[in-house]
Formats: sequence, C-alpha cells, structure tokens
Amino acid sequence: MRIRKGDNVKVTAGKDRGKTGKVMQAFPALGKVVVEGANTLTKHMKVHKQGEKGQKISYNAPFNATNVQLICPKCAQPTRIGMQTLENEGKTKKVRTCRKCKEAIE
Ligand SMILES: [Zn+2]
Repeated sequence: MRIRKGDNVKVTAGKDRGKTGKVMQAFPALGKVVVEGANTLTKHMKVHKQGEKGQKISYNAPFNATNVQLICPKCAQPTRIGMQTLENEGKTKKVRTCRKCKEAIE
C-alpha cells in the first residue's frame, strides 16, 4: 500500500467519489484507509439508562485504499505513485514518486 497517514487523497469510487481529504489513519495490513470527511457513517448508540437520550455518532469508516488517489503535494494533481530507489552514502532508500511531475513525495 502506497498511501500513508497524512497524505491528501482524492476518492475515486463509492458514494464520496470526487471528494478530497486527508488520510487520518492507514491500515497497511488491511489495505484500508480512513479519509477525513469521506465514507461517513452514523452509529446509533443504544440507551443504557432510562431517561437518557440515544446518541448518534458519525465517524469516518475505513475503505479500500485502491479507491483513493494520492494528490501530489508538488503538482497538486491526483496521481499514481511510483517507487524509486535512491542511493545516499551507500544506503539505499525507497521513495515514492509522482508519476506526473516525477518529484519524490515524502
Ligand atoms: Zn506531482
């Protein structure tokens, strides 16, 4: 999975298609992400005590990372992510790159 927490992404599928937001949480093992303001679900809390009101809590549910595209911080366009290996003082480091402007994305 190439989407990380803190990335700005565009939703490309589902009911929130076209929305953009920040990745709040990433679950690489599941291939899922939580995007701010996208895939909002409402949970109805049950009443536990008499006289207490039931509450509705809305939250952003995780969805498949394949349904989002990274918005490149350099060229501000939704893009696919490439990988590039950089060598620095004998150490190699893999960085993500924008397929459009070819810039490395931190
Ligand atoms: Zn770019």
